Amino acid sequence: MLKKYGPSVALVLFALIIGVWLFQIVAELSGNKPAKQVAVVTEQAVFKYGVNINDFKVLSHQVKPNELFSEIFSQYGVTAGAINYFVNKSGEVFNLKKIKAGNTFTVLCEKNDSMLVPKKLVYEESKVNYVVFNLDDSLYMYRGENKVERKHREVSGVIHSSLYATLEENDIDPSLATRMSEIFAWSVDFYKIQNGDKFKIIYDEDLVNGKSVAIGEISAIVFNNGGKDNYAFYYAKDNAHEGDYYDELGNSMKKQFLKSPVKFSRISSRFTMKRFHPVTKVWKAHLGTDYAAAYGTPILATADGVVENAQFKVFNGNYVKIRHNGEYKTQYLHMSKIAKGIHPGSRVKQGEVIGYVGSTGLATGPHVCYRFWKDGAQVDPLHQKLTFADPLPAKYKTDFLAKTKGTRNSLNAITYTEHNIAVQKQVAEEEETAAEKSEELVKRFF
Ligand SMILES: [Zn+2]
Repeated sequence: MLKKYGPSVALVLFALIIGVWLFQIVAELSGNKPAKQVAVVTEQAVFKYGVNINDFKVLSHQVKPNELFSEIFSQYGVTAGAINYFVNKSGEVFNLKKIKAGNTFTVLCEKNDSMLVPKKLVYEESKVNYVVFNLDDSLYMYRGENKVERKHREVSGVIHSSLYATLEENDIDPSLATRMSEIFAWSVDFYKIQNGDKFKIIYDEDLVNGKSVAIGEISAIVFNNGGKDNYAFYYAKDNAHEGDYYDELGNSMKKQFLKSPVKFSRISSRFTMKRFHPVTKVWKAHLGTDYAAAYGTPILATADGVVENAQFKVFNGNYVKIRHNGEYKTQYLHMSKIAKGIHPGSRVKQGEVIGYVGSTGLATGPHVCYRFWKDGAQVDPLHQKLTFADPLPAKYKTDFLAKTKGTRNSLNAITYTEHNIAVQKQVAEEEETAAEKSEELVKRFF
């Protein structure tokens, strides 16, 4: 800047600094203290709903279940005439039957009015949209929208309690915990987060009046779990509208299940949810898919995971159950034999042999009964919408690496922040003062 405009700008700046300095000396000599030393507290204007809400006394009313608009309005002394007016106008602006329990009405009254006569009532339809009912001078209603500000954020955190708590402590929207567990569903076990695990996230956030209303695109995350860095980069092929997440090498973050646990087989019985027969009192449900194959045919793990059970039970026979992530588990029944090294706790790779086809337990012929669990319930894998991302084809890898280079550098430049205890203390003190203030308000007006 200075270089471009030459010495004239520098000269003006210098003159300004000298000028301010001289003014301060003169002010002090003449006994007029500079304004900043005078303890005058001016309340800052806070614009909300298009008005400076500091000009009003602000009350807040949360809509109760089944509470009607008219009940709320009359509670605040709005006349029947005014209520009728809004009812008649509602078709044009906002359907008053659509007010939702839990949403807020903000009631703005004149500052020194002890009678609390509302000047305006504002219904907060969402974090962004609102409806203003004006009662001051004339009656009218209109819709408004809070200004949404998109903020680019680069954050980090070190986990000592839970991921959720760490996000909150670091002033990060805790809904990012869910997003992270979805993105890393196949690479990080969020049930086994360790003390000292850490993360960095680069994302966009939508704010209204400085408060988060929505998480936008997450462009990159590194999640360090047990000392291992797990990367996720957002990338859209051919600048498509929707992209997906890939690791630092461009491998898909999601893994696909094998279609079946045995290579050469036929389905001999499908998953069915038949109902309990009231007369015969027999369940006719089959919560698995049977693949018939020759005795001894290898049974393969359909996805990476950790063995949960590997044992014999009367009905299941020899069986193995694998936990893939927080969402999916698979189970393989009636094995003639469980493969060597398959014990509870062993890690298995997709396609790894975990046992051999047999007819142990309640089985008539050699087959594997394949059971698929989603969120704790048995479901038919053949009817699941397992919309897994395809691995990134080779032709996109160069583009991926080029497009994510900047994000990668930004991610590496973020330093891990331990949650600062001093900051925590300050926040607690501020909250205390705020609580005292609101208590005082309640005492004064009610
Ligand atoms: Zn079966």
